[in-house]
Amino acid sequence: MAASSNSSLSGSSVSSDPEDYQPPIWKSYLYQLQQEAPRPKRITCPHEMESRPKYYGREFHGMISREYADELLVGAEGAYLIRESQRQPGTHTLALRFGHQTLNYRLFYDGKHFVGEKRFESVHDLVTDALITLYIETKAAEYIAKMTTNPIYEHLGYTSLLKGTMVHRLSRGRTEPRRVTFQRDERISSPLVQRTALKDTPEKQCFYEKIHNFKVHTFRGPHWCEYCANFMWGLIAQGVHCSDCGLNVHKQCSKLVPSDCQPDLRRIKKVYSCDLTTLVKAHNTTRPMVVDMCIREIELRGMNSEGLYRVSGFSEHVEEVRLAFDRDGDKADISASAYADINIIAGALKLYLRDLPIPVITFDLYSTFIQSAKLPNAESRLEAIHESLLQLPPAHYETLRYLMAHLKRVTQLAKDNLMSSENLGIVYGPTLMQPPEQNALITLNDMRQQKLVVQLMIEHEDVLF
Ligand SMILES: [Zn+2]
Ligand SMILES: [Zn+2]
Repeated sequence: MAASSNSSLSGSSVSSDPEDYQPPIWKSYLYQLQQEAPRPKRITCPHEMESRPKYYGREFHGMISREYADELLVGAEGAYLIRESQRQPGTHTLALRFGHQTLNYRLFYDGKHFVGEKRFESVHDLVTDALITLYIETKAAEYIAKMTTNPIYEHLGYTSLLKGTMVHRLSRGRTEPRRVTFQRDERISSPLVQRTALKDTPEKQCFYEKIHNFKVHTFRGPHWCEYCANFMWGLIAQGVHCSDCGLNVHKQCSKLVPSDCQPDLRRIKKVYSCDLTTLVKAHNTTRPMVVDMCIREIELRGMNSEGLYRVSGFSEHVEEVRLAFDRDGDKADISASAYADINIIAGALKLYLRDLPIPVITFDLYSTFIQSAKLPNAESRLEAIHESLLQLPPAHYETLRYLMAHLKRVTQLAKDNLMSSENLGIVYGPTLMQPPEQNALITLNDMRQQKLVVQLMIEHEDVLF
């Protein structure tokens, strides 16, 4: 990404009207400062040094005093050397001249050189980065403190146009789950009325919030923050990068970016084992396509199948379906001509749900659900489960709602398929609910509640969702 030539301290002039869109003006003040930062000057030791560790060069001076090091460095900004500590022999100190004084850092090596979080291939790189950071953060402290106050990110359409996608980062909304009450004399609408109401909710759009998947990143060549438009300084680890949508920002700016990650399909490699919200955002669907497609297929030709979801299909075939989804997404062929045995499709659906990195009933809410199921009073139990459901992330909630409506229909044909809500609770309990810490004892203890939660969600699907 190239720098704009006419950037200024006063900031960019990005219009908020998409019609008047102008390319963002990257602010180059910090870039200029980086160019001005003192360069490292290695002060070498003229003597042969037997005690020199093999990972240091002639900048290693052995056990010289702090004062003597000071004398060797004086007068040259960026001058540095390494000495062995007199107080703690065997430990090393990087002495660096900056701002007309000598700064001393405890220097470590474990295959890479470091004094803080950042790790470097060479001491020279470490010093280069330290001088840039010291120079910019001293000289531009006030500027850096204020650089996030008028972020270009807030201007509608900026990022979308930049990335060439049709997403408006700021036009967000969220479908809130409906609240219902369980008090008897309140007008709980009949299942029929509720069903009609459900049909009214838009199925196509998805407005789910998703947090960015930021990881510390080393950028090759100059890069600018897509939040504040300022240069990302330093030699390595200059900022963070979202591996789902590709957004690049300063570490400090990452805390201010809204939860509006729009994953890029090209970055989402798989369908199975992909975070549920990430997948639906990437495909712009309400629910994962695996869930919709498998349920559609099962409702088409498998509802009467004896032992549906209990009887397992050939695991190689289930694995084939998984590969097909990973490869072809919503183009995967799961029709009767490809897989005549419906248990394979049922198995693929269960596998998808079981392999989620965060289960449909999230780790965070696991114990809330388990505790709900332990309540002795049937009514407060339902109320507690309902409250817990409302706390689920929207994509998880929508998936569960759809699945439970389907399982309810399965139980309505129990005389053919022999699957009661209790049977389905046994099958789906551990699939939808996994404790945050995998512990055989906890899992065993909770099995009853896991089953009960699912059983109750199926039986009371019409009022719970
Ligand atoms: Zn992102
Ligand atoms: Zn920034």
